[in-house]
Amino acid sequence: MEMLINGKTAVAADDGWIEVKNPATGELVDRVPRGGKDDVAAAVEAADACFGAWSEKTMRDRGLVLARAAELIRRDHKALAELLTREQGKPIREATDEVRGCANILEYYASIAGQPAGEVVSLGKAGDCLVTRVPLGVCGAIIPWNMPVIIMGWKVGPALLAGNTLVLKPASTTPLTNLKIAGLLQEAGLPPGALNVVTGAGETAGEALVTHPRVKKISFTGNCATGHRVRTLAGEQLKALTLELGGSDPMIVMPDADIPKAVEGAFRGRFYNAGQICTAVKRLYLHEKIAGEFMRLLTAKVEGTNIGNGLAPVTEMGPLNSAGQRDRIAGVMQDVVDRQEGCVLTGGGPVTGKAYENGFFYRPTLVADVPADAALLRKEIFGPVLPVITVPDLSTAIREANRSQYGLGASVWSRDLSTVKEVFGQVHAGIIWVNRHLTVPPEVPFGGTNESGMGRENGFHAIDSYTQTKTLFLGW
Ligand code: NAD
Repeated sequence: MEMLINGKTAVAADDGWIEVKNPATGELVDRVPRGGKDDVAAAVEAADACFGAWSEKTMRDRGLVLARAAELIRRDHKALAELLTREQGKPIREATDEVRGCANILEYYASIAGQPAGEVVSLGKAGDCLVTRVPLGVCGAIIPWNMPVIIMGWKVGPALLAGNTLVLKPASTTPLTNLKIAGLLQEAGLPPGALNVVTGAGETAGEALVTHPRVKKISFTGNCATGHRVRTLAGEQLKALTLELGGSDPMIVMPDADIPKAVEGAFRGRFYNAGQICTAVKRLYLHEKIAGEFMRLLTAKVEGTNIGNGLAPVTEMGPLNSAGQRDRIAGVMQDVVDRQEGCVLTGGGPVTGKAYENGFFYRPTLVADVPADAALLRKEIFGPVLPVITVPDLSTAIREANRSQYGLGASVWSRDLSTVKEVFGQVHAGIIWVNRHLTVPPEVPFGGTNESGMGRENGFHAIDSYTQTKTLFLGW
């Protein structure tokens, strides 16, 4: 598949290619151009040339394009979901949800077209001020491989609705569904140049986008180390910046919780997408009164997980996205054993057997008796490994939950309002769920605190982040 620049397919200026392989089988799915600095420059030029016409359209007209694109995504959702599973590895059910989720996001932004308004500030005799919101210009969107389709929606929806044009750089292992969806936006009536997709490596194509002087804003989703690099580079040019980085979400379960429901929540919260989600449950704090029963149910559930190729409808957990990802998780677990930082209850190794030998499968893993300073609790573990910690009371759970450099999400499972109030007031996170985890609707602002990043996506907040105020001061 080729890149999309100025409404046309394009190969890389230096003619290099990146192979996209199926993480379940190792088979070649397709190849994309290894775009670099020249390709980014061509894409930015196209986006810049299109900006005037696109930003002059009414927001309603821009919203209609997003609404039509959502319809086309729904029309093609089966093929898109299958492609997503083949490049990313996730079960087809999850891929279908993700593709439909992207359509939902575009529809949401279409539905609020016209609503994000400016304000009038009356200054008495001095005059009146008309405060409008104007788009920023060409924006850069850099996205990771774990939820590439949803994250594309989070960036493309508000940026285009607000009147910006975009250059998007997908992750190297999952560019295909992003390219297909960009094609559908075009089919929906997006003018050439409004959305360009440059495939390529982060260090080359990604950095060329971050440092291009005509790019006004970077919206980056990825890991913390890259986020810091992007922040430094973008900061040198005073670009606007949204950083959606890693997380290590705690899940706290109190004795009055609905235990079977909480077990389901922990299972889905940790092992959805093979644990490769920024807001996955990455630390499970169980009150000691229910820890035994909870772990009996959770261990049985985990051991019964149907692992396999995501295209099989029965699959509950697919492979990790790449060999590097699988090896990182294997390294994390080797450290647990070497440093005696926990007791492996189940899992702890790759999945064996002929059906798995060419894929990047790792068994869903539960680790108990993890010391408070263990790496498993301090780092972000981006795979199917769940450390479980037993706590005597809520205040210990909150104190331990906050012993993290991250602050993306957190959940508390309880029927008691005072417990909810304590957790909401004290746990550092951008979102606190009660009796659920993971759900991020497009209407609700999403983003983290501390090392989890800066800025918010979704909702009206995202429109704010893709616009700036411009004031007309009427001195009567
Ligand atoms: P990554 O930082 O390695 O890559 C993300 C993107 O950045 C890719 O497109 C990559 O090519 C590009 N990139 C890499 N180096 C770059 C550079 N020097 N300059 C510009 N771009 C560069 O992240 P990853 O490992 O692919 O993604 C997983 C991480 O993303 C996890 O930490 C996860 O928690 C985080 N994440 C966060 C959110 C959120 O909304 N907070 C959502 C999903 C994933």
